[in-house]
Amino acid sequence: MAELKADPTPWGGRPSRKDNEARFQKLFEEADAMSIQGYLPDGTLVYWNRASERIYGYTAAEALGANLLDLIIPPEMHTQTTAAVRWMFETGKGIPPSRMALKHKDGRRVPVYSSHTIVAVPGQSPVMFCMDADMSALHQAEAELRVAAAAFDSQQGMLITDAAGVILRVNAAFTRATGYAATEAVGQTPRLIHSGRQSPEFYRALWHDLRTAGFWQGEIWNQRKNGEVYADWVTIAAVKDEWGRVTNYVGTQTDMTHRKNAEAKITRLAYFDPLTQLPNRRQMLDRLQRSVAANLRNRSAGALLFIDVDDFQTLNDTLGHDQGDLLLQQIAQRLKRIVRAGDTAARLGGDEFVVLLDDLSPNLTEAADAVKTVGDTILTSLSQVYHLREQEYLGSVSLGVTLFSHQESSVDELLKQADLALFEAKAAGRNTLRFFDLEMQAAITRRATLLNGLREGLRQQQFRLFLQPQVNRDGALVGAEALIRWHCPVRGLVSPADFIPVAEESGLILPLGKWVLDAACALLATWGARPETAHLTLAVNVSARQFRQTDFVDQVLTTLDRYQANPRRLKLELTESLLVDRLDEVIVKMSALKTLGLGLALDDFGTGYSSLSYLRHLPLEQLKIDRSFVRDLPADRDSAAVAQTIIVLGQTMGLCVLAEGVETQAQRDLLASLGCHGFQGYFFGEPMPMDAFQELIRPCSQNEPTSLAC
Ligand code: C2E
Ligand code: CA
Ligand code: CA
Repeated sequence: MAELKADPTPWGGRPSRKDNEARFQKLFEEADAMSIQGYLPDGTLVYWNRASERIYGYTAAEALGANLLDLIIPPEMHTQTTAAVRWMFETGKGIPPSRMALKHKDGRRVPVYSSHTIVAVPGQSPVMFCMDADMSALHQAEAELRVAAAAFDSQQGMLITDAAGVILRVNAAFTRATGYAATEAVGQTPRLIHSGRQSPEFYRALWHDLRTAGFWQGEIWNQRKNGEVYADWVTIAAVKDEWGRVTNYVGTQTDMTHRKNAEAKITRLAYFDPLTQLPNRRQMLDRLQRSVAANLRNRSAGALLFIDVDDFQTLNDTLGHDQGDLLLQQIAQRLKRIVRAGDTAARLGGDEFVVLLDDLSPNLTEAADAVKTVGDTILTSLSQVYHLREQEYLGSVSLGVTLFSHQESSVDELLKQADLALFEAKAAGRNTLRFFDLEMQAAITRRATLLNGLREGLRQQQFRLFLQPQVNRDGALVGAEALIRWHCPVRGLVSPADFIPVAEESGLILPLGKWVLDAACALLATWGARPETAHLTLAVNVSARQFRQTDFVDQVLTTLDRYQANPRRLKLELTESLLVDRLDEVIVKMSALKTLGLGLALDDFGTGYSSLSYLRHLPLEQLKIDRSFVRDLPADRDSAAVAQTIIVLGQTMGLCVLAEGVETQAQRDLLASLGCHGFQGYFFGEPMPMDAFQELIRPCSQNEPTSLAC
């Protein structure tokens, strides 16, 4: 107010005091953004301009005459305000201008920038004028600025340029990501971090979007200060002023390196085998699918090779899994070296690998030749010595191959075919390659339907035991071998030679074997109940798989118990195949059975592994000379020599020897002259139903056998 007084002539001329007052009055009134209030020393309001009404909410009529403290001073400022007002009137000076939050009529706080002055006109009471500039808008802007500053400090890299693209600011995250400090970046353009991987057209399109839409977003390959190129997810927004002119560009960037790495890792996990780094089953199936489709289009051929490591389980069990893993890794490396660029070597899991050959000749013979060559290379390479951690290992693999040409075949079918071929290769011995062919397919199908039939047969009780007589040197009946028969409603009477192998392979031999044991014990019980049959023994065939069940001895015992059958009349026929593996376990079981009173016979003797050294350790009672050595007797000298050796062997070990397959008197006589104790064969009787066997007993019952041997 002092200035207003000091410069009374702003418009020239010398205005009257009255004019001046009117002018200032008008000026005060219309100062739109500034609340002007006048107070007497006791705080009574004497002046209130229009802006005051807007800023504080009271009309002049409401406000005039009210006290400053009641009007706009919030309660917490009363004391300090009273003191300040007193000081101003005493000294005639205003307190320094400052920011305050004063009170609106509705109670809310109004941010103002407040200055004060004391106007003393002689003869009149001095008046304190307060001039409060409304700071609401500024306040708002400041709050927004704080938010913007916080946002700018985010984890995302940010840069702000002017309209010409010159960098004005970058944040700390930008520095972290690019390696450029703010001082290095400011004044440059974003070209600073360009990698050169994007074409000029790319940037042209970017600028086009920015100009038209004011916004662009996408992936850019940028380059760090250290030269490393990385993927950035970039958003650029144009900032415009109130007239729509671009003033700035704000760019945010998110480093995608981690995400890209994670993506790559996920892809690796999904499509590669972590142990060998070969494509995994999923990827292999994918490629096979594509290869089948491509062959169909190009009329070319492809081949699927299944590879299975021989005896892998044994290696794992004996040397440990980490050695097994090493072997698998080395196999993978060798396979990688063998296959051509367009082909695939994959690991299906476990010790199974697959090679997929593409683009073979449409002439299937040529294709097969080519595949055979690759297959042989694989066999040779994979049977070279492996260097495991502490030792060298001589491994081998089996290979099953199927070709596919332009004929439509499903992936599933091909997998099955290669698997079948592999199965055949394994069955044929180790280090072998087998091609799938239609005959194989037919055999497999037959096998599968047979297996289904067998399962059904078990449910429907279509099995019977036939009995084949066993006689001693005197020709007296001493017992029988139980031989299973299947009365299949479709196939008729099926020989066990046709279905036992399938049952063994599938595991169905276990329920089947139980059934036989059960039927045999039931029969033994009825024999035991009658004096004319009580002395007869019943021989039952037990396959290796059945014998290897941990609870086999228990099974036998419970079954005998159930029928109250005499264990001394039960004989189990075992084969040499049982003796190739884990012999100690086998011997423990055999001894347990022997202790129970059962007899144990070694069936088909002479055809198996024939390491005679183990024989001494076995608690056996009987050796059965295999039919094949009897068949050509008496003419064939070699057969006679074998038969004789077996008989002598049996004698020296105190075992009873029984010849099976005896069809003629001459065979019987020769064997008897060599010292054979027992006989079985068509000459004495074919396998027959139980009723027919019963007929045999009647005539014999008059003259009881003198020797019970065998
Ligand atoms: P195997 O134990 O060697 O049984 C003897 C086989 O020789 C029987 O064939 C029998 O009929 C046949 N045979 C007996 N005497 C003569 C003969 O004088 N000349 C000729 N040419 N053959 C004769 P089968 O009954 O067909 O049984 C075949 C094989 O099936 C058996 O051979 C045995 O290994 C298996 N088998 C039979 N029944 C069972 C069973 O209940 N369980 C198990 N696990 N295998 C069984
Ligand atoms: Ca037998
Ligand atoms: Ca036999």
